Amino acid sequence: MDIPLWRKIQKESFSKISEISDFLQLDESNNKKLLEKPSFRFLLPRRIAEKIPKNNLSCPLSKQFLPLKEELIKKQGFISDPTCDAIFQKEEKILHKYQGRLLLITTGACAMNCRFCFRQNFSYPQTKPIFERELAYIKQESSLHEVILSGGDPLSLSDETLQKILQALDAIDHIQIIRFHTRFPIGIPERITPSFLEILSRLKKQIIFVIHANHANEFDQDIFQALKSLRLHNVQMLMHTVLLKGINDDLTSLKNLFLTVSANGIFPYYLHQLDQVEGTTHFYTPIKKGLFLIDELRKILPGYATPRYVQEIPNAPYKTIL
Ligand code: SF4
Repeated sequence: MDIPLWRKIQKESFSKISEISDFLQLDESNNKKLLEKPSFRFLLPRRIAEKIPKNNLSCPLSKQFLPLKEELIKKQGFISDPTCDAIFQKEEKILHKYQGRLLLITTGACAMNCRFCFRQNFSYPQTKPIFERELAYIKQESSLHEVILSGGDPLSLSDETLQKILQALDAIDHIQIIRFHTRFPIGIPERITPSFLEILSRLKKQIIFVIHANHANEFDQDIFQALKSLRLHNVQMLMHTVLLKGINDDLTSLKNLFLTVSANGIFPYYLHQLDQVEGTTHFYTPIKKGLFLIDELRKILPGYATPRYVQEIPNAPYKTIL
């Protein structure tokens, strides 16, 4: 069987520190800042690497994806599972936290590994992508109206596997909405193939994509084109963002990001306070600063381009609006 183009592009991603260091022409002093053997694997699509200026570890993209020795800093309050995902695991691949919707953990794989990922220590199932028990759970939970395909990144799965999951969910009467949480199109927009769009177009239920992006520099015209093709297939497009120190914790970066995506038919949904997973102290922005930024944003952006600033508090019945 032919390997799809996006899989070939995925194979060209950087996964070795020495290779990205050479590619970015890092000098000795920058090389010394890198963590050679990070506990959370390094992975970066070539498209993103090409947007990073040479020998620059302080640009908003290198900071998000290159492992730095700062990840070794330990601090009280930064723990392995800050959102307590483990206690909401109802089946091997289900996290059921909130009423009416749940997360289907489709895979542990992503297109890129974000250094601040709150699920970087999650014990992802090592079993095959078979979801019989999970689909049975969803079928018998008639209070559910939405299933969120999460992970990892659901678009890491093949079209064949996604089609099976989507068709099964589409056939469940009480499920009205199927939501994807994905960052894949930011790194590998080629993943939005005509065959994937065809699979989506055959579904009866409303599809929502929530993409994850943190800085306007992540985007380019190929990405917007791929996201537009989803919109043209009746997919609602939203975006969530994590507030990250030195990356987007300033008014200009956030305003540019929210305006850029809104102008391309994608609406900012949530601005997340950082989930305090260990190894991410250098990304922490105080809530006081986040509140100031969101208040300033409200003054200069229309409501549809201003996300809600939220924090995930374990055992709260929904994301807490700050
Ligand atoms: S894409 Fe999402 S799930 Fe994957 S590493 Fe980044 S934050 Fe984590």
